[in-house]
Amino acid sequence: MSDTNAPGDTTDTAGAGGMSGPAGIGGATGTAGATGGLDAALFAAWVEGIAAAVRTDRDRLTALDSAIGDADHGANLDRGFTAVAEALAGGRPDTPGALLSLVGNTLIRKVGGASGPLYGMAFREAGKALGDSPEVSLADLDEALAAGLAGIRRLGSAAEGDKTMVDALAPALRALTQAVQEGRASAEAVGAAAEAAEAGAQATVPMQARKGRASYLGPRSVGHEDPGAASTALIVRALHAAVSRTAGVPGGRSGPAPEGTPRQPVGEPSRRAQEGPE
Ligand code: ADP
Ligand code: MG
Repeated sequence: MSDTNAPGDTTDTAGAGGMSGPAGIGGATGTAGATGGLDAALFAAWVEGIAAAVRTDRDRLTALDSAIGDADHGANLDRGFTAVAEALAGGRPDTPGALLSLVGNTLIRKVGGASGPLYGMAFREAGKALGDSPEVSLADLDEALAAGLAGIRRLGSAAEGDKTMVDALAPALRALTQAVQEGRASAEAVGAAAEAAEAGAQATVPMQARKGRASYLGPRSVGHEDPGAASTALIVRALHAAVSRTAGVPGGRSGPAPEGTPRQPVGEPSRRAQEGPE
């Protein structure tokens, strides 16, 4: 997509993967499982957090979109993540990959405009990258978010500096990748990503939009935060909150590594590394 509207890919493959039966996500905190990975409950808690944050910030997101768009971004995402929360309440997929695929498919079905297909694609690609493991490592999550960003870029062909969600997600991912390489604890690593996303969203204020609806305004798009970058910052903050809540869970690896342990808190190598050299 090189323009405002993403293609309407409405393929519905929601529900891939096993379902754990009706399992309301209310109050889900997620845990680091027995082997220390990030499990489906953690991802459900993330998505639940996004839904709550979008609801709280709905008017702010819409106000941002009214300045340089068509004043529907908050409503679009609220509709989408409310549908996601309902889908999860009806039966939560057993694996992080299936859960993110369900999120992506639901967003594509329920959210119109540019952001629905773009976020839908991102969650779907991230879900696909996580495969069918019941637990994934922080390095796997990093790779999944990279796949999500690649999907957004493929669909929307926005580069950094075009004043879109990419301006928040790309720096967030860079921060996360660096933190993973440095062997930081999950909560700290995702915290760095959240800060980078927030800074990236703020950095869209002086930019002139070159993609999406805001680009029609030309120079008049300068001086406003991009709504999609703002919602991406919110989504990464919600991930940080969900991961932070697992930090105190016994056996979890989201907290700081104990003194004297090697700085490799997520333990398992990424799936890609397990599969051997490329
Ligand atoms: P619409 O613009 O169709 O009304 P939304 O208001 O829900 O859709 O979403 C607008 C946001 O979508 C923008 O703020 C921007 O971040 C993002 N966006 C629009 N076009 C693109 C694109 N080509 N690539 C990446 N992000 C985009
Ligand atoms: Mg809009």
